Amino acid sequence: MAGYFDTNIEFLKGVGPQRAALLKKELSITTFRDLIQHYPFRYEDRTVFYSIAEISEDMSFVQIKGKLLTMETIGAARKQRLTVQFGDATGRVELVWFKGIAWVKKMLKPGVEYIVFGKPTRYGSKINIAHPEMEPYVPTHDKGGYLQPVYPLSEQLRNRYIDNKAFNKFLRNLLTQAHSKITETLSDALIQQFKLISKKEALIQIHFPKNQATLAKAQYRLKFEEFFYLQLRLLTLKLTRTKKFRGLVFSEASLLTDFYNNHLPFDLTNAQKKVIKEIYANMKSGNQMNRLLQGDVGSGKTIVAFICALIAIGGGTQVALMAPTEILASQHYLGLKEYADAIGITIEKLTGSTKKSKRRAIHEQLQLGQLKIIVGTHALLEDVVQFQQLGLAIVDEQHRFGVAQRSKLWQKNKDILPHVLVMTATPIPRTLAMTVYGDLDVSVIDELPAGRKPIQTLHRYDANRLKVNGFLKQQMEQGRQVYIVYPLIEESEKLDLKDLMDGYESICRAFPETAVSIVHGKMKPADKDYEMQRFVKGETKIMVATTVIEVGVNVPNSSVMVIENAERFGLAQLHQLRGRVGRGADQSYCILMSGYKLSKEARTRIETMVRTNNGFEIADVDLKLRGPGDISGTQQSGVTDLLIADLSKDSNLLQIARDAAMGLLEKDPKLENAENIRIKTQVESHTKSTVNWSRIS
Ligand code: ADP
Ligand code: MG
Repeated sequence: MAGYFDTNIEFLKGVGPQRAALLKKELSITTFRDLIQHYPFRYEDRTVFYSIAEISEDMSFVQIKGKLLTMETIGAARKQRLTVQFGDATGRVELVWFKGIAWVKKMLKPGVEYIVFGKPTRYGSKINIAHPEMEPYVPTHDKGGYLQPVYPLSEQLRNRYIDNKAFNKFLRNLLTQAHSKITETLSDALIQQFKLISKKEALIQIHFPKNQATLAKAQYRLKFEEFFYLQLRLLTLKLTRTKKFRGLVFSEASLLTDFYNNHLPFDLTNAQKKVIKEIYANMKSGNQMNRLLQGDVGSGKTIVAFICALIAIGGGTQVALMAPTEILASQHYLGLKEYADAIGITIEKLTGSTKKSKRRAIHEQLQLGQLKIIVGTHALLEDVVQFQQLGLAIVDEQHRFGVAQRSKLWQKNKDILPHVLVMTATPIPRTLAMTVYGDLDVSVIDELPAGRKPIQTLHRYDANRLKVNGFLKQQMEQGRQVYIVYPLIEESEKLDLKDLMDGYESICRAFPETAVSIVHGKMKPADKDYEMQRFVKGETKIMVATTVIEVGVNVPNSSVMVIENAERFGLAQLHQLRGRVGRGADQSYCILMSGYKLSKEARTRIETMVRTNNGFEIADVDLKLRGPGDISGTQQSGVTDLLIADLSKDSNLLQIARDAAMGLLEKDPKLENAENIRIKTQVESHTKSTVNWSRIS
C-alpha cells in the first residue's frame, strides 16, 4: 500500500487541515494508512431491538424503536435540560439531554419514528437514557440491522465533534474512494493454505462488518498478517545472525568431564542436563551462541552457568559474568568460587567498590589470560577491562540491563564475538518469549531440584500482625531465618525509607532478643555487604530490607518471606521475592501483608500468588493484567506495534503464524521466489524504517 496511502489525511473529504491536526495530535493519525489501520476496539450489536418494557438499568446498551411523543425543556439557562417522552407498543421511556439542547431540538420532531441507542440508567424511580444516539427509523433496518464499530477516540476529539459517527464517516469516505487501490500483502499460497480472505475484503469488513461471521474472518486475516510479519522479521534476524557471526568452536570437554565426574555437589535435574546439552551443542557448532536461559527462581541456573564456563575455559578462553547489582555479583562470585576452587580455576570479582590496587591487578591478569572467570557489575564494561580472549559472556537478570550496555560486553573481542548466554529468572509467557526473544534460542529449566517442598503462600491483613509475629517467633525457635521486605520506589523514596525504618524499629521491639539486619539501596556497598554477610552466616535471624534482595540472594536456611504492602508490588516482583525462600529442605512460607482496602488488580495479584507457585502461570496472569507493553524487553521487539493482534488472547494464532513464517523461510530463505514477491516487498518497506538490532539481542 505504498504511495497513495501515504497521502496526508488532511486531503480526505470531510477532514481538512484543522481536523487533520487534531487527529494527528490525539491519535497520531497522519496518513490514509493510519486511518485505515485505526481499528475499532469493539462492536455494538445493532442487530437486536429491545422493547421498552424489557429495558433495565443493568443493560450496558439498548437499541429501541418507537415514536417521539413529547419534547420539553426544563429549568433555567445554565441548568437546562431537554426531556423527551419516547414510546413503543410496550411502554414509555424518558430520553434526556444536558448539552447541545438547541441542536437536538432542531433535529428531532415529535410524531416521528426513531431508532434510539444508548445506556439506560436509573434516575429516582424511573429509568432514562441520557444523550442517546438517534436516527430516523427507516424500515430497511428491520431486515438485518448491523454491527456498529466503536473506535478508540479521545475526549478532545469528541468535544470537537469528531465522535464515533464522524469517524465512521471518514472511513466510509476513504474506503469508498480507496478500496480499489488496496493491494494484497500476503502470497496466494498463504491465503489458500490458511483460508484467508483478501486484504481488501478484510479492511472493508473490519470497519463495516456485514455480520459476525465476516467480522471474525476479517479479524483473523489481519491478526494473522501482523503476527506473520513480526515473526518473519525475527526469524530472519536469527538466520542472518547465525550465518553472519562465526562462533568459537569449543569441542574439548575434559575439564567439564572432570568436574562432572569428581566435583558435582548434587545430581543434576533432568532439565539441567537437557539445557547443558543444548548449550554445549551450540558452543561447538561453529555458530555464535545467542541464547536465553530461562529458569524459575531456585531452578539451579548457577551450576549450569558454571558448567558452561568450563566449556569455554576448556577451549582456552575466558568467561565474564555480569550481574545488575553489587549484592548479586557477590552472591554469584561466592557461589561460583566454591565450584571453581574445587577444580582449581581462577576467579575474581570486579565491582565499583573494588580497591584500586586490586582492580589494576585484575585488569592485568585478564589481559594476560591468567584469570579465567571474572564476575562483576557494570564495572566490567569499562574500556580498561580487556581480555586475552573472551569466550563466553553470561548476563544475569537481563531485564536490568539496556540492550546497548549488554552489547558492549560482547564487543570486547575484536575479531570474533563471544558466545552469549542471557539468564533470566523472570518467566516469560511462551507467546511473549517467542516474540520478545524470537531471534534468540531459548533453553528452559522447567523443573526444580527434587525434595523441595512447595512454598506455602498466605495473605494476611495488617490487623493480624501480632499473630504473624507469633508465627515468625515459632519459626525462628526452630532455627529458621526470616526476610521482611518493604517496597521502595523512587517517586516516594523518602516515605518508603521512613516506612522501612519504622518497620525495622517495630521488629526490634517485637523481637528484643533477636539480632536483626537491615539492608537498603541508600547504604554504602560495603555496609550492605557486611549486613548481608551477617545474615548469610546466620549471625542475624531477621533481614529487614527493600527489594535490593529481590534477585539472587541465596540463604537456604531462611524459610519465611514476609512482604509488607504486598499490594504495591507487581506480580513478577512478588514471585521473585518469594523465590528467596524454599531453597532448603524445610517447609517455607511467604506471607503477603496488606491493608483491607485493595484494588481489584491488587487482589488478583495476591490471589494468584496464593494459588500458584508456577512462574509461567504467574507470568501469564501478569501479561493479561498489564498487557505486553509494560513487560520489559517488549519495547524493542515490535510487540508494541501490534495494532489488532493480542499476545495474550491470540496465542494460538501466533503459533500458527510463526510456523507459517518458519515454513516459508525454510523453503525460500531470501524470498527470491516469484510467488513470494509481495512478502519481500512488505519486508523491505518495513526494514527501511527500523534500526538494525540484529547484533545486539
Ligand atoms: P537460580 O536458578 O534461582 O539461580 P540457584 O542456582 O541459586 O538457582 O540454585 C538454587 C539452590 O538450589 C542452590 O542452593 C543450589 O545449590 C541448589 N541446587 C541447584 N541445582 C540443584 C540440584 N540439581 N539438586 C539439588 N540442589 C540444587
Ligand atoms: Mg540465581
